[in-house]
Amino acid sequence: MNVFYITTPIYYPNAPPHVGHAYTTVFADTLARYKRLMGYNVLFLTGNDEHGLKIQKVAEKQGKTPKEFTDEMAEVFKNYWRSLDVNYDHFIRTTDEYHEKTVSEAFSYIYKKGLIYKAKYAGLYCVDCEKYYSPGEYVEIEGKPHCPLHNKPLEYMEEETYYFKLSDFKDYLLDVLNNREIVYPRSYAEEVLSKINKEGLRDLSIARPVERVWWGIPVPFDKNYVIYVWFDALLNYISAIGYLNDNEKFSKYWSNVHHVIGKDILWFHTVVWFSILKALDIDPPRKVIVHAFLTSKGTKMSKSVGNVISIEEMLDRYGSPDAVRYVLMRIFNMDKDSEFDFELVDSIYNSELADTYGNLVRRAGVLAQKKTDGKIYRRNIDSKIKDELENKLNAYIDAMENFEVARGASLAIDVARLGNQYLNETKPWEKKDPSKELYTVLETIRLATILLYPFTPRISNLVAKAFGFTVENPLKATLESIERYNVTNAPILYKKISLKK
Ligand SMILES: [Zn+2]
Repeated sequence: MNVFYITTPIYYPNAPPHVGHAYTTVFADTLARYKRLMGYNVLFLTGNDEHGLKIQKVAEKQGKTPKEFTDEMAEVFKNYWRSLDVNYDHFIRTTDEYHEKTVSEAFSYIYKKGLIYKAKYAGLYCVDCEKYYSPGEYVEIEGKPHCPLHNKPLEYMEEETYYFKLSDFKDYLLDVLNNREIVYPRSYAEEVLSKINKEGLRDLSIARPVERVWWGIPVPFDKNYVIYVWFDALLNYISAIGYLNDNEKFSKYWSNVHHVIGKDILWFHTVVWFSILKALDIDPPRKVIVHAFLTSKGTKMSKSVGNVISIEEMLDRYGSPDAVRYVLMRIFNMDKDSEFDFELVDSIYNSELADTYGNLVRRAGVLAQKKTDGKIYRRNIDSKIKDELENKLNAYIDAMENFEVARGASLAIDVARLGNQYLNETKPWEKKDPSKELYTVLETIRLATILLYPFTPRISNLVAKAFGFTVENPLKATLESIERYNVTNAPILYKKISLKK
């Protein structure tokens, strides 16, 4: 069986997830559900990135140990994913014992290869941020470098640290990024290439002195240091599938791994990650799928900016996880930022889910029950509509295979639109025996329902049950293959919401 391994970034659980996190996670879930439907053996991984200074400090502030705090937050994240019907196969936490062990062993392996060395680090440091700032990151006030967050002068500091020889991988990275179609869309690969060519590669500090950051995985041969969170976090993608523990499982899933990321972590997921993998003698990932931001008030949603839209607000407004998932995927964009605009999203919800698909299901359900007692036997359907349905199906498969979920969702609704048109044209309610028309309409509903399944799993299953068919691989769900429909219910799926004036 073909394997499909898909990952989200692991999230920093200093605060609960919001719609920005849902955007990424629902996208991965939609692709995972699509691939399962297509018959793949899918492994969908998400989880939390639990080490590091920020977590150490948030926990401290709340009077908890970092472990207590991250235990609670892991449950919070899982509950949110459940509320959106996100069906992951594994939830990784970087405090999981197997993960810590893998990170520690991988660190030693790279060290023994001579690709990690100890040296002095010098730079400008903000005591309040506990972070180094490089030129371009800090602001100058009266000619002196200041912290952009605290407006305080930066201090010159020197300390010993461990470096990863990132600069050794320049030729390798240029080759991989130029010649292999890993980063998708391609423009992001160009962006990374031009940054490498312009700025070069500097070795990366991958340890922190324990007196500053103690909440992390210790450097295996030097207890005065913990491993830098990014090195720790990136390795989740391989520790979760048995790297160094279960070779067979690891090779099987790694061969078709797809990382889903936001564009802000592109550098780490290409330059840094591909180099670490190479240092471990592992091939680069099959695909890194990059998306632009879901913005609010013009910038990326973030708690500190205060422009966050909550998952609860979305669920309250649109009434079901299916609706929230659908509208998020309809505005999903890999190339350009999408401004989250309730007016736009309301109109997508109303016109596509309520007026088109929902209305079709309701009308056809009521008609079938009234005219034929819900039982509709197989008929040949008109070749014109049959061709149109098959074209939509092919376009949908093409979109989904290219991760274009917004187009896929639209095409599924187009199928329902064809059903409504057909109803309006043939007026089965005026006929004594409208079996042929009803069978045709039910076929459009079946196809739309199957194509919508990755987006709206719960409602697709509900409609399938009410009308007597199964959600199955769309390539195997041939038209005219259902011997008899049995419509037992005409559900109202999506209630229209009143638009803002
Ligand atoms: Zn600062």
